[in-house]
Amino acid sequence: MIGLISATAAGAAARDRLAAAWPDRTRVYDGPVADAVRRAFAECEQLVCFLATGAVVRLVAPLLAGKTTDPGVVCVDEAGRYAVALLGGHGGGANDLARAAGEVLGAEPVVTTATDAVGIPGLDTLGLPVEGDVAGVTRALLDGEPVALAAEVPWPLPPVPFAAEGAHTVRLTDRAVAAGEREVLLRPPSLVVGVGASRGAPVEEVLGLVEDALRDAGLSVRSVAELATVDAKVGEPGLVGAAERLGVPLVTYTAEELAAIEVPNPSDAPLAAVGTPSVAEAAALARGGELVVPKRKSERADGQPAMATCAVVRRPARGRLAVVGLGPGARDLLTPRARAELRRASVLVGLDQYVDQIRDLLRPGTRILESGLGAEEERARTAVAEARKGQAVALIGSGDAGVYAMASPALAEASDDIDVIGVPGVTAALAAAAVLGAPLGHDHVSISLSDLHTPWEVIERRVRAAAEADIVVTFYNPRSRGRDWQLPKALGILAEHRAPTTPVGVVRQASRPDESSRVTTLGELDPAWVDMMTVVTVGNTATRTIAGRMVTPRGYRWQTTAEEAR
Ligand code: SAH
Repeated sequence: MIGLISATAAGAAARDRLAAAWPDRTRVYDGPVADAVRRAFAECEQLVCFLATGAVVRLVAPLLAGKTTDPGVVCVDEAGRYAVALLGGHGGGANDLARAAGEVLGAEPVVTTATDAVGIPGLDTLGLPVEGDVAGVTRALLDGEPVALAAEVPWPLPPVPFAAEGAHTVRLTDRAVAAGEREVLLRPPSLVVGVGASRGAPVEEVLGLVEDALRDAGLSVRSVAELATVDAKVGEPGLVGAAERLGVPLVTYTAEELAAIEVPNPSDAPLAAVGTPSVAEAAALARGGELVVPKRKSERADGQPAMATCAVVRRPARGRLAVVGLGPGARDLLTPRARAELRRASVLVGLDQYVDQIRDLLRPGTRILESGLGAEEERARTAVAEARKGQAVALIGSGDAGVYAMASPALAEASDDIDVIGVPGVTAALAAAAVLGAPLGHDHVSISLSDLHTPWEVIERRVRAAAEADIVVTFYNPRSRGRDWQLPKALGILAEHRAPTTPVGVVRQASRPDESSRVTTLGELDPAWVDMMTVVTVGNTATRTIAGRMVTPRGYRWQTTAEEAR
C-alpha cells in the first residue's frame, strides 16, 4: 500500500491524480500533516509526500528504524516538477516509485542512489538473496575498481561490469560458505528439494529434515528454489507449512510423472500409498538436474517410524531469452517492458542499426553481439546458444520482433531448457495506420512482398485471396532497388476487385524524424514514392478518405447508406 500525504491545494490535486491512477494501491492520509506522515509510515510499504523534502526529513527522522524495514519515501514538490526518491531507494523501492509517480504526474524522477544514477544495478537489486560486504563491493563497482565474478553455478544475471580479476569478488554460489573479506555472496535459486510425508507429518519434522540434509551436504538454504512432491500431497499441512516457512513454492507432479523418472532409491511403500516408487527423489529430479543429496528419512526422537523423506537436486541453470520488439523507431513507442528487458539482459543480440537505436538504454557491462544485414539465422543461433549457457539474453528486432523478424528463427532453434520471454512491439502496420487515420477498422492482413524466402507464386496467391475477400492489405518490404515489379503487380491484382478510387496510404519511416506519408488512391499511387522503409496500406471497398484521413468503416452499412444517398 502506498500512503499519500499532502498539505496544500496543489498538492492535494496531484495527490488525487495519483490516487485515481492507482486506486487499488494507494490510501490518502488526511488531517494534520505530521500525524498523517506518522500513520502512513507505520502502515504503508511506501509513501508519496506532496511536501518539501525538508519537512519530510524532519517528520520521518524520528521514525527511522533501518534500511530493510523503513518504507520507501518519495517527495513531490508543490509545482509537480520533480518526484524525489528521498528514502529507501532500493530496499523501499523509492527509486522505482519516483519513476512511476513521475510518469503519472509528468514530474521528473530524481534518483540519487549511486548505482541507479550510473546504471549499474545495485547488488541488492539483482533479485537474488545477497550476503557479505554489499556496501563495500558496490562502492568498488561504482569507483570503477575491478570486481571479479566467481560463478560456481551459471545463472542468468543482469549485466554488472565485472572484471576478470579483482580485489573484490561477487561469488554466485549455493554452497553454505561464509562471505570472505571484500566479498559478496549471491544465492541463485538452484536447489530443488523433493519431499515426501505421511499424513499428519509435523511441519517441524519436515523442516528439520530439509535443513539437516542441506547442512550435511554443505548447501545454503537460501538457494532453495522450491519444494517438490506428488500431487496427492498438495494439501499436506507439514509440506505446505515447511514451504511457507522457507518462503518457496510447493510444486507437485502426478504419480504417473514421478513413476516414469529413474531414481537410485525406489521403494515399495510410496508405490502402495500414492502409486510411484519414489516421491522425494523423483520429484526433485522431475525437471532434470543432478542429485546432490539422495533420499534420506527424518529421525524422530521418540523412535517412531520416520514421517518424512527428502532429496536435493541442483537444477541446471535456465538461461533466459527475451525476444524484444523495439517498436517502429520513436523512443516513446518503445514499451516500458521492452526497456526493462533491455536492462535485464547481460547479452544483447541484434542487427547493428537496431542496436544503435537503443544503445543508450543498456547497462554498463552489457555484452553486445551485433551483426549486419542478412546473417539472420546466425543471429538467432547465437542468441539461443548464449541463453543455453545460462545467460540473460535479449534478441531485438524493430517493430514487433515476431513479425517478419527474429522470433521465429530463434524459437525454431530453441529447446525447452531455456525460458523465453516475448515482449510485443508496435509493428509498422499499426504505426502507419495511426499516421493514416483508421485504415484497419475492419478485417486486415499483412503481406510481405519480399520473394527472398517465399516464391512469388505463393505471395501472388495470397494477394489474390485478400483481393477476392475484400480485406484491407498492408504491404511490408514493398519495394527495393532490385525488386521493383512486385508492388505494381500486387496493386494490379487488388485493382481487379477494387475501384481505382480506393484509398491507399503510403507511410515512410513511421514515427522516425523523417517520417512522411500520403493518402492517395489505387489509381494514382506512384510506386516511386515507395522504398524499403515504407509500408503501403490498401483499403477495402468500403474505405473512404474523410478530411484527408483514411477510414475503413467497422462494417459495410455506411457504404450502403452512401450509395442509397446517391
Ligand atoms: N518486425 C518489423 C518488420 C520487419 S520487415 C515490424 O514489426 O514492423 C521490414 C519492413 O517493415 C520494411 O521493409 C518496411 O516495409 C516495414 N517497416 C519497418 N519499420 C517501418 C517504419 N518505421 N515505417 C515504415 N515501414 C516500416
